[in-house]
Amino acid sequence: MPAQSAFELLQRFLEGISVGDDCWEWLKFKDRNGYGQLQHYLGPPHRTQSWKVHRYAYVLFIGPIPKGMLVCHKCDNPSCVKPSHLFLGTYADNRRDCIKKGRDSKRHESKKIPLDQIRVIKAAYARGESQKSLAQRYKVTRPTIWYNLHNRDV
Ligand SMILES: [Zn+2]
Repeated sequence: MPAQSAFELLQRFLEGISVGDDCWEWLKFKDRNGYGQLQHYLGPPHRTQSWKVHRYAYVLFIGPIPKGMLVCHKCDNPSCVKPSHLFLGTYADNRRDCIKKGRDSKRHESKKIPLDQIRVIKAAYARGESQKSLAQRYKVTRPTIWYNLHNRDV
């Protein structure tokens, strides 16, 4: 595979987003926290740079990210790349705003799984059942399973 130019990276970024009235949604690969990811192959010796797409969007549309700063979402949607929804924050801000808001947002609130079921789900997950299979079994989305596995104490 030949090295990919900055232009190709830009192209793939643009192909991966859906521009809506509100958020600009990243449609391709997302990490387990819901942040979009884009791989940039820089050529031999097999150097691949991995971008979080909201950070890429910030650099592209707004400017460089100062060292140690994070790019947070005003809209609490980790897969959103709309420049006006992004702002710089510190790690402390991120813990307070991005992560907390993102994980406790209403879309998860409405899908809280009863505690007794979570115990069963956690046990099944510990035995190696995948989040996907659990989601199918309990008829909820995978992010809901993820949320409940990581944010509910039983
Ligand atoms: Zn947004």
